[in-house]
Amino acid sequence: MKVDVLYDVFCDKCGRSLSKDYASGLFISAGTAEKEAKRLGFFEIGGKRICPACAEKLSLKRVPKKTHAASSRA
Ligand SMILES: [Zn+2]
Repeated sequence: MKVDVLYDVFCDKCGRSLSKDYASGLFISAGTAEKEAKRLGFFEIGGKRICPACAEKLSLKRVPKKTHAASSRA
């Protein structure tokens, strides 16, 4: 059986997703989904993804990166 694998990006705080809440759709690669998420204003902090709405609530808007050492994988 052939199964299509598509990628979406969810906010770790409120659960909004690119496909449902940002009308952005699904992507054929994780990299593309990630790029689109960034373009729409998603943040990644300490391995958690934060949507633009939550970022605003947390006043994270374009604050210089100050992540903890925990986010250094790769
Ligand atoms: Zn959110």
